[in-house]
Amino acid sequence: MIDLRSDTVTRPTPAMRAAMAAAVVGDDVHGEDPTANELQDTVAALLGKEAALFVTSGTQGNLCGLLAHCGRGDEYIVGGHAHTYMYEGGGAAVLGSIQPQPVPTGDDGMIDLAAAAAAVKAPDHHFARTRLLCLENTTDGRVLTRDQMEASAALAARHGLAHHLDGARLWNASVALDVPPAAVAEPFDSVSVCLSKGLGTPMGSVLVGPADLIDEAHKWRKMLGGGLRQAGIVAAAGLYALKHHIDRLAYDHANAARLADGLAAIDGVKIDWCATNMVFIRIDEGLGDSSDLQDGLEGRGILTRWSGSQSRLVTHLDVTAEDIETAIDAFAELLA
Ligand SMILES: *Cc1c(COP(=O)(O)O)cnc(C)c1O
Repeated sequence: MIDLRSDTVTRPTPAMRAAMAAAVVGDDVHGEDPTANELQDTVAALLGKEAALFVTSGTQGNLCGLLAHCGRGDEYIVGGHAHTYMYEGGGAAVLGSIQPQPVPTGDDGMIDLAAAAAAVKAPDHHFARTRLLCLENTTDGRVLTRDQMEASAALAARHGLAHHLDGARLWNASVALDVPPAAVAEPFDSVSVCLSKGLGTPMGSVLVGPADLIDEAHKWRKMLGGGLRQAGIVAAAGLYALKHHIDRLAYDHANAARLADGLAAIDGVKIDWCATNMVFIRIDEGLGDSSDLQDGLEGRGILTRWSGSQSRLVTHLDVTAEDIETAIDAFAELLA
């Protein structure tokens, strides 16, 4: 199957599985897993931060970060469409009593910084204490520029706020901007990155930041049930992916651009945007029900997910340039 639903569907390659099988392991709850430690050191160095913590998921990485930055009754400012706000079960509020303050997001994926500045609460006993400003890069595939991230960092500094990046797909941003990963991470105190998006790794994310913050996050990870024992088995997959599957993201981006071009040439298909490895499309109402199109595509071996007339198509490790041509042809035939 050509699975365009998400880049989370990638599977470990035979070479990655071999690296996992060969991993030297120990009890990571006691800090004794050499491979988990190597992964943490590697990601901290790649992102130019003091320390790192291997966590089970991006949700856990962001949550440990938020819990480490903010206390009960504190507030964090975040985009109204951001993953941490919309798609993580409200964990910061549920488990940390941290109040989210959502702000609007522009068409470029960047939060409205004027709205963020206006949302910072004055020190007054009526108000929650604003503590943290949170960005997401990439966000629905779109890359925030260095200028945008630095403007946000300046705002945070002006108001004494910590600055966190949900960098689930930071690797895609780094490849698209053609800068080292550390340059994307630099304007932030803490960053959470995923190893399981488009990279073939079965699971895992890493939170990076100053040593004292990572220490605090480590305590939260334990409480959240994220203390793993022989974590090196999966950390080895992450190390393998960092070495072999980052540079090739440019190929995924080229595949997404080709997919967008091919689909744009079909009557009734509109491209909302194509950025890094994601293509957001919609089809004319006149072309019928998208569930018929979804079934037709599935019959041709192509998996897609629709919300009404809209879909997000995602390229990744397990999608080839030939698969993209197959998908374009299938769309054209079914919509003819
Ligand atoms: C996937 C994702 C996460 C984390 O998701 P998990 O499924 O918990 O690993 C966080 N932020 C963004 C933007 C994501 O796409």
